[in-house]
Amino acid sequence: MLERGEVANSWRRERWDSLRLLTPNWQSRLPGLRYEGPDPDGYMTAGEVTGLIERFATVSRAPVRTGSNVTSVRRTGDGYQVTTGGGEIRCRTVVIASGACNQPAVPPFSDAVPASVEQLTPFGYRSPGQLPDGGVLVVGASATGVQLAAELRQSGRPVILSVGEHVRLPRMYRGRDVLWWMDASGVWDQRYDEVEDLTRARRLPSPQLVGTPERATLDLNALTSMGVELVGRWAAVRDGRALFSGGLRNMFSLADLKMERLLDTFDEWAKTDGYDAEAGPPERFAPTRVPESARLQLDLRSGEIRAVVWATGFRPAYGWLDVPVVDAKGHLNHEGGVVDSPGLYALGLPVLRRRRSTFMCGIEDDAREVIEHLARFLAVRRRS
Ligand SMILES: Cc1cc2nc3c(=O)[nH]c(=O)nc-3n(C[C@H](O)[C@H](O)[C@H](O)COP(=O)(O)OP(=O)(O)OC[C@H]3O[C@@H](n4cnc5c(N)ncnc54)[C@H](O)[C@@H]3O)c2cc1C
Repeated sequence: MLERGEVANSWRRERWDSLRLLTPNWQSRLPGLRYEGPDPDGYMTAGEVTGLIERFATVSRAPVRTGSNVTSVRRTGDGYQVTTGGGEIRCRTVVIASGACNQPAVPPFSDAVPASVEQLTPFGYRSPGQLPDGGVLVVGASATGVQLAAELRQSGRPVILSVGEHVRLPRMYRGRDVLWWMDASGVWDQRYDEVEDLTRARRLPSPQLVGTPERATLDLNALTSMGVELVGRWAAVRDGRALFSGGLRNMFSLADLKMERLLDTFDEWAKTDGYDAEAGPPERFAPTRVPESARLQLDLRSGEIRAVVWATGFRPAYGWLDVPVVDAKGHLNHEGGVVDSPGLYALGLPVLRRRRSTFMCGIEDDAREVIEHLARFLAVRRRS
């Protein structure tokens, strides 16, 4: 196992200070390593996740070579040639487990933002104190964006949040964590070959959730109540002005509708599985409040905004992969982790084999199935 940094590198280097997992402790498990502490329904800090992964590396005796940056993987006659900072390795098969979130995705028009406005991504952001005094424009309203907008607003700054397509969820539903419902009702077990639009499912933004001791919901209504101003999707920069799309009403209705459909699925499952009496009564939530007049532009040179935080998602990075298996958008071509090149496999990608693949708890089943395929591949090769 080659790791360019240390064990749990992404959790050590690429997370902000206040981050907690959005999956509850009982769900944030690795194969054979479950949470056994006093707070199964709580949410781990990034430091605790690092500890969990370190413990896993120790108990599983994973043969990790830290400080081994892979700079190239090339196909050779019967396998692959892997180049690392420490030398060359030849192997029959390679499993790509380099992560789905190696770099923040920032739109190209960020180049046109005036230099007087500081720009940060979630990889560089640690805490509000690091930003210049004054207003902040947070771009993106998925898990990262809503969490950073709330934290910056609570630090006393004026915050504008630019909202694109998003997934709204309550933290708690009928007395249980909403992710408990995802798990129990089987939504997370839906397989990749049963998902109607797999490409879309794999690109779906993370849900608007935060893991806090209060188990509070952090949707757009909660942010509006804190005094965060909502604007539409940031579409372009022209003459030093940020231009935002209109249509917030439609976008909000769509997110509300999708949330209701999901809650309907949970309610149906509770009824057919006999959980109805045990759970609290079905709940429905107030529609997302639409601002009376959302502004469509903002003068970035006026001083109103001193910093922009791009919470516009993350991308994988495959610059080191010299095998033609990456599409024009930078995503790996694979069928359930079996990459389109003999002996090449992938793990740890969104909806790799099932919806839960996007989360830590998805790795156990995915790894078993992908490694079964890999073992069969080697067995056939050995016989031939
Ligand atoms: C902000 C954020 C919040 C998240 N919250 C949750 C959550 O609440 N619950 C949950 O279950 N999941 C969460 N996830 C998803 C979580 O990251 C994954 O479930 C899990 O960490 C994926 O592990 P991984 O090992 O596949 O990828 P990573 O953790 O990204 O690890 C990949 C490793 O590969 C190394 N690497 C990359 N390229 C090379 C190279 N060329 N050579 C050598 N090494 C290389 C990296 O240094 C890194 O250590 C979150 C993700 C992000 C970004």
